[in-house]
Amino acid sequence: MHLSTGKGLHLSDPDLWLDPRRPQAFAFISHAHADHVARHEAILCSPVTAHLLQVRYRISRDRMIIQEFHEPRRWENFCCTLLPAGHIAGSAMLHIVDENTGASLLYTGDYKLRPSRSVETATWMKAQTLIMESTFGLPLYVLPPAPVIEAQLCDFVRETIADGSTPVLLGYSLGKAQEIAAILDAHQLPYLNAPSVAKMTEACRAAGLALSAAETWQTDIPPGYALIAAPQILRHSDYARIPRARSAMMTGWALHSSSRYRYGCDAVIPLSDHADYPDLLRTAEIVDPQKILTVHGSTRELAASLRAKNFNAWSHYGDDQLEFPL
Ligand SMILES: [Zn+2]
Repeated sequence: MHLSTGKGLHLSDPDLWLDPRRPQAFAFISHAHADHVARHEAILCSPVTAHLLQVRYRISRDRMIIQEFHEPRRWENFCCTLLPAGHIAGSAMLHIVDENTGASLLYTGDYKLRPSRSVETATWMKAQTLIMESTFGLPLYVLPPAPVIEAQLCDFVRETIADGSTPVLLGYSLGKAQEIAAILDAHQLPYLNAPSVAKMTEACRAAGLALSAAETWQTDIPPGYALIAAPQILRHSDYARIPRARSAMMTGWALHSSSRYRYGCDAVIPLSDHADYPDLLRTAEIVDPQKILTVHGSTRELAASLRAKNFNAWSHYGDDQLEFPL
């Protein structure tokens, strides 16, 4: 098994790309967020991702090799297993073993360790090589415990309604929006969904996820209701139709003090679908690899933090290869 990193992550044997940006002959798509999707000739993905690729990007199922979680599949001497990544509906990690040599690799894609209300919790297999995302790979990214984040969200909704205003909860229409809805359901707070959110929620339900039916925002928002919408609504004329709107963005970047101004919203709440810094470090301990490659985000900084914990970790971009531990 050989991994090259020049134009993306490519395994030359088996001939497989990992979330490539450009169309390739054969690629693993970890999940259906736009930055991971391209029109490859053949696509390896989970059943839920297959459904979302079809609905969201009109990609034909004929191109897909659909593999259930936890069910190993053999290609020649390779054994591939997809594992839930806990990021969004259908998100998968890929574990590959070369049965001739015993070499093993785990590619995380986008993931998070902590359980969520709308997607399956991540599960793990040990591997000799770990390729892990590092979106929040700086020590400042420590998310509060989940109950604290949920309380922040519910307090924002209740206080906004008590003030006679309409809470507008902002998150990506695929993933974050369904998590917001599941939290509101759990706390019996009523809400409507912007049409783009409702479409994705219904696609997730059709793919088998246990989510409430999405009630869609048509004209009015009844008093006492919140609205779940994608962040783009702030720049849309629809936003002006909402009586006394107050917006809150759900994002891990809320841990930056300036984020509220950057997003141009009234509040930010640190609800994330990525692993925070402590969980990134914990991932390395769980997988116990001999080598780690960090991809996306603070790759160089996370690799340095992992080396300080005696892992053989390097940035995918190769800009730290001249550093050696003493
Ligand atoms: Zn993603």
